Amino acid sequence: MTDADVRRVTVLGAGNMGHGIAEVVAIAGYDVVMRDVESDLVSEGYESIEWSLEKLAEKDRLDESVEEVLSRIDTAVELESAVADADLVIEAAPERMDLKKEIFGELDEHAPDDAILASNTSSLSITEIASATSRPESVVGMHFFNPPVKMALVEVIYGTETSDETAEAAYEFVESLGKTPIYVRKDVSGFVVNTVLGPYIAEPAWMVSGGEATVREADAAMVHRRGYPMGPFELSDLTGIDVGYHVREEAGRPIPPVMAEKVESDELGRKTGAGYYDYESGEGANYGASDDSGEFDTLRVEARMANEAARLVGDGVATPEAVDTGVRLGLGFPEGICRRADDIGLDAILEKLETLHGETDEERFPPDDHLVELVESGRTGREAGEGFYEYDSDGDGPGDYRLLNYDLSEEGLLEVELDRPERMNALSTDLLGEIDDLLSSVDAEAVRCVTFEGAGDRAFSAGADIGGFADRSPTDAMDVTPAFETVEEFPRPTLAKIEGYCLGGGLELALACDLRVATEDSEFGSPEINLGLIPGGGGTQKLLRMLGETRAKELVFRGNRIGAERAEEWGLINRAVPAEEFDEVVREFVDDLLHGPPLALEVAKKVMNEGADASLDAALAMESQGFGLLFSTDDLREGTAAFREKRDPEFTGE
Ligand code: NAD
Repeated sequence: MTDADVRRVTVLGAGNMGHGIAEVVAIAGYDVVMRDVESDLVSEGYESIEWSLEKLAEKDRLDESVEEVLSRIDTAVELESAVADADLVIEAAPERMDLKKEIFGELDEHAPDDAILASNTSSLSITEIASATSRPESVVGMHFFNPPVKMALVEVIYGTETSDETAEAAYEFVESLGKTPIYVRKDVSGFVVNTVLGPYIAEPAWMVSGGEATVREADAAMVHRRGYPMGPFELSDLTGIDVGYHVREEAGRPIPPVMAEKVESDELGRKTGAGYYDYESGEGANYGASDDSGEFDTLRVEARMANEAARLVGDGVATPEAVDTGVRLGLGFPEGICRRADDIGLDAILEKLETLHGETDEERFPPDDHLVELVESGRTGREAGEGFYEYDSDGDGPGDYRLLNYDLSEEGLLEVELDRPERMNALSTDLLGEIDDLLSSVDAEAVRCVTFEGAGDRAFSAGADIGGFADRSPTDAMDVTPAFETVEEFPRPTLAKIEGYCLGGGLELALACDLRVATEDSEFGSPEINLGLIPGGGGTQKLLRMLGETRAKELVFRGNRIGAERAEEWGLINRAVPAEEFDEVVREFVDDLLHGPPLALEVAKKVMNEGADASLDAALAMESQGFGLLFSTDDLREGTAAFREKRDPEFTGE
């Protein structure tokens, strides 16, 4: 599906970002011209697209053939003809202001009057780029993340004169690519994502420079204690220490001494074989487990990130939702920084910043006015019922969840989506807590069927969140979450809709459901053994009862994955269907469950679940009790009447 106002797109630059952007735009169905300054560069970019499309096709992630997508991509070296018919131009040339201004000057001359002119710059001012044109209202930032094919986030940035019409069209265009846009409503340096990332990288570097922590302590603490996907130093080594250095230098911000030392000695990270860690010896970022994190002050780092978030929100640059979506999808943070700050308590964050500010005269710590205002007005976070966000404080009914989305239709279909696509919907303790809370507090009478699915297109859920494991004591870990039991015992039928990975804890959640429908390319497994663990959450016992000892032991002992067809053959799932038939098959299952007799389904579920663990005699006794119970219901009268009258029954659950 393409956005109505945009049909033809021109991408300037066939480098790293340019070829990736051209690829996603063509996949979404637009005609694209990809232009670079030399034909060799264009060819290289085109070959990279071909290679990447082949990979997607191998993984069955393209709806059409590689050739069909490629047929929509033209290449060019000459600018004038490349942009003559463009509805949208996306510039992805090297990050130099003089060059960008030159390009936008040319675009002003040659692109159609009503074209949108977008720049993929990561750090330059959109306002200044737009000043090279006579139509700054049509210029907008469209900041894709690397690599565009994989990363879901795009920042849509307003320059001072960007019109709403331009920004909205850019936003809709990004949505039509299947990506998630966020508005950055003012042209601030670093936009949203890099503004929050700044202190994540820099504050630990200041602490190490001041002898208050070591590189390993910082990385171990942020990853194992706080669940970030990579330690700050590990991340700097990956992106290049010089990159962060130059961004800070350009912005006139002070540079932590350890960072400067590394740049001076040309130890820039992975690309030079050494940075904060040594990559040549093969050791790499070896920061071990949470025990190695010492006394590292994680609050100091998170308080500074929250302070930046408060500044963005207070200055009207972004909403808390946009900031949180940005850091989750752009950086893989385990949750949004505004949510996290609300959980920590904004008063605790303010106090931390004030203490640090009192101890030094560094510019890094003065609390932002918006943060002060929130705390002074009593909006100190989740516990107070309001902080960056408002919380449901009445305690009745399902609240406001961070890691899952749900919708209860009038018909009674409760759809639950695990919403951590950046972590392949890994089940953290918090996410399991939310599932438990939702099913425990929802009015079961209003529900007739529940479905579970994973956000994004890669996984139902790829497992438990390993980030939290190392930090748990054995007794904590034995305290198995009640969520699986709550799902299993929910009095309505439940269905797992599986597209992609369904592993470990994700498989256990699917097994706690009554029924499972999966796309053919889905994969199943219990990889816990590879970590030196066994499946928890009922995994070993469920598999044993469901598959028999032979197959269950194969899955648990070998820890490898099986495809959906084998899973169907083994009885692990109800159906494995081609991706294009998935929605229809799911709908057929759901229709039967939604319109079936609620009481009989409830009794059937109960006697089958409980009967599976009982002796045959006891199970048969349960069944006949249930059978008798249903004899006096209106639903039975309705069911038999409808059968006689040859019409569809309308069950009420009475
Ligand atoms: P790159 O060096 O890989 O590619 C830039 C390409 O632009 C080169 O092939 C160059 O020949 C070409 N070019 C130069 N002048 C041109 C012109 N007048 N018209 C068309 N093409 C021209 O750089 P990159 O990593 O793709 O970065 C491009 C832009 O994307 C930069 O603004 C950068 O800040 C931004 N960005 C980069 C990343 C990243 O991680 N690499 C992420 C987000 C945004």
